[in-house]
Formats: sequence, structure tokens, C-alpha cells
Amino acid sequence: MNIILMGPQGSGKGTLARQIIKEFGLPQISTGDLLREQMKKETELGKLAKSYVNKGSLVPLDVILKILQDRISRKDCKNGYILDGFPRSKEQAEALKKIAKIDAVIVLEIPSDVIIKRILTRRVCSSCGEIYNTSSYSDPTCKCGAPLYQRDDDKSEAAIRNRLEIYDRETAPLVDFYSDRVYKLDGSGSPAEVYARAKILLKDLEARK
Ligand code: AMP
Repeated sequence: MNIILMGPQGSGKGTLARQIIKEFGLPQISTGDLLREQMKKETELGKLAKSYVNKGSLVPLDVILKILQDRISRKDCKNGYILDGFPRSKEQAEALKKIAKIDAVIVLEIPSDVIIKRILTRRVCSSCGEIYNTSSYSDPTCKCGAPLYQRDDDKSEAAIRNRLEIYDRETAPLVDFYSDRVYKLDGSGSPAEVYARAKILLKDLEARK
């Protein structure tokens, strides 16, 4: 089953995807994580991506498509995967159509005033990638023992606003593009509450496969 997780930054896509991995065994493919990995290793692709990512702008299609294709061709994707952060525009959705069949698109819905606060207080584990929020977790280290950090593009309100504008303009219209397989999910509440809603939906989708 190939699933797209859609929703604005801070809507909880990453957190939800990590829970789905545990129970459904589908790997999460986050194009943002793949780019940050390249940036950390300071590869040519990472250096190119950095200027876009830190401003909150979209990385060019050829770059993002290359890392995505590399990733979905790996063995762990043969029974399906969850795309987190791709596609983000109609151009990307058209490109995806040529390389993958998408079964369902889950759209996380959340009020915009909650989003900025969630992003500004988001912290990520530098080792396992677990996502925390300082409003509910004040420890500077992850449960796995590694230090937490704040993403550079989460520190700037200008970059956050840019990302949210791009979402509204470029990504939100994809709900119409995928209208025959879109499932809207209430993204408010705790991660456990959101996951409980998602689980019902995923079990249903699995049964229909
Ligand atoms: P995310 O981790 O999904 O919030 O993505 C962080 C940043 O990576 C975005 O603000 C973009 O600069 C870049 N990025 C991630 N996914 C894509 C994509 N599908 N297309 C273009 N840029 C992307």
C-alpha cells in the first residue's frame, strides 16, 4: 500500500508516520529528512538544497525526484511506503504518477494558529529522528540518549510563514488532484489520539486491498 501523508508543516505528519511504521511496517519516506541527511553529509546535493531549505522554499523538482527515486527503489519499499512531504505541488504529483501508484492520501487538518506554536516548540532527536515538543517534554535529550536539536528552518518565523504560504498555494490544491482517494483526518489532540483515528482508517484501507 502506497500512502501519501499530507498536511501543513507542524500538522504532525512525521509523528504519525513514525507510529504507522511501528504497527504497519510501512517505511516512512520523508523528503525533508532525506534532504537534511544530504545537508549534514555536505554532499553536492546537500549544499545545493541548503539555500532552499533554510529559506523554507521548495527544492527544484529534478533534485527532489532523484532522491525520491533512489529511496523508493530500495528493498524495504517493495510492499509499500508512506510518503511524507512529497508531493508538494501539482508538478510533483504529475511526476509521481509516472513512477508510483498511490492508494490513499491522508490529509491531516489542524487550525493554523496551533501550527506556528507547534513548529516553534518542535525539537528533533539528532540520532533516531524522534520528534518532541517542548510544551510536553522539557528534557534536552531524547529517550534514546542523544541530544535534541531545533531545525534551522524552524527557528525563523519568516521561513515558517513562507512554508505555510507554499502549502496553501501549491500543496493544498492536491486534495482535488487526488479527490478519488483523499481521506481527511482531524490532526488535533495528542499523538496517541491522532494515531487512534489514523489506525481505524488504515485498517479499513488494508481490508479493502
Ligand atoms: P519538511 O521536513 O517536510 O518540513 O521539509 C523541509 C524542507 O525541505 C522544505 O521546507 C523544503 O525546503 C524541502 N523539501 C522537502 N520536501 C520537499 C519537496 N517535496 N519538494 C521540494 N522541497 C522539499
